[in-house]
Amino acid sequence: MAICKLCLKDRQLRQSHIIPEFMYSGIYDKNPKRFYEIRIDDNEAKSRIQQKGQRENLLCGECESKLSLYEKYADENLYGKNQQGEARLINQSMDRERKVFLYEFEAFDYDRMKLFLDSLLWRLLVSETIYTPDYGEEIKEQLRNSIYTETPLDPAEFPCLVHSIMTAPGKMLKGFILSPLERKYQNRTILSVLIDGFEFNFYMTDNLPEDEIIPFLQRNGELKVLGRLIYDMPELVEIVKQRMDHLRERLHEK
Ligand SMILES: [Zn+2]
Repeated sequence: MAICKLCLKDRQLRQSHIIPEFMYSGIYDKNPKRFYEIRIDDNEAKSRIQQKGQRENLLCGECESKLSLYEKYADENLYGKNQQGEARLINQSMDRERKVFLYEFEAFDYDRMKLFLDSLLWRLLVSETIYTPDYGEEIKEQLRNSIYTETPLDPAEFPCLVHSIMTAPGKMLKGFILSPLERKYQNRTILSVLIDGFEFNFYMTDNLPEDEIIPFLQRNGELKVLGRLIYDMPELVEIVKQRMDHLRERLHEK
């Protein structure tokens, strides 16, 4: 028995995934079953081949079931699994330079999607095997309490900007995980994790972008995903290109 990180009760703990299993499903090479993970250690990108997603003794069975409901929701709605989602893509457009694509979704269930995103952030922060900067106990407790009591935080609290990273229009850069990285952008602290083509950018500070388009998940169920071409993200190109021969091939594939 040990203390479950979510309910804080003394329970039999499961080997819980830090990054939900469904987010890996498209990532594994089939034979042998494996995927690539890139980490930044001492400013150097290091890649390793993993057979299994990282797990830790984190949650009791009851708390795992609780989180699995939100995972199922995200799987069906953001990832479009089984076509059972209720969220709808209502518009797609690109900027004048044809570099940034905007995918506008509506009808997300705010509560479930927000709890999913926050649970992903929380698991990254409490994980002992995946490194993230220390943002303090208060933030972890705020997230834990919200997830445990199923009381979603406000849209402006730890909002997540979702990017889909593409090698060409409509073609996502899939097949690996880039471990969490902290970036500073216009005085804002952003924690990013790239999982199989989707980059989740959590804003860890409260001064939010003042763009006209508010891309974050809104209470009315709107969410905007920004499609970015990897060629326009030099920092990301640098990180991935040295490490992965198979990726280099993909980048040259047109
Ligand atoms: Zn629990």
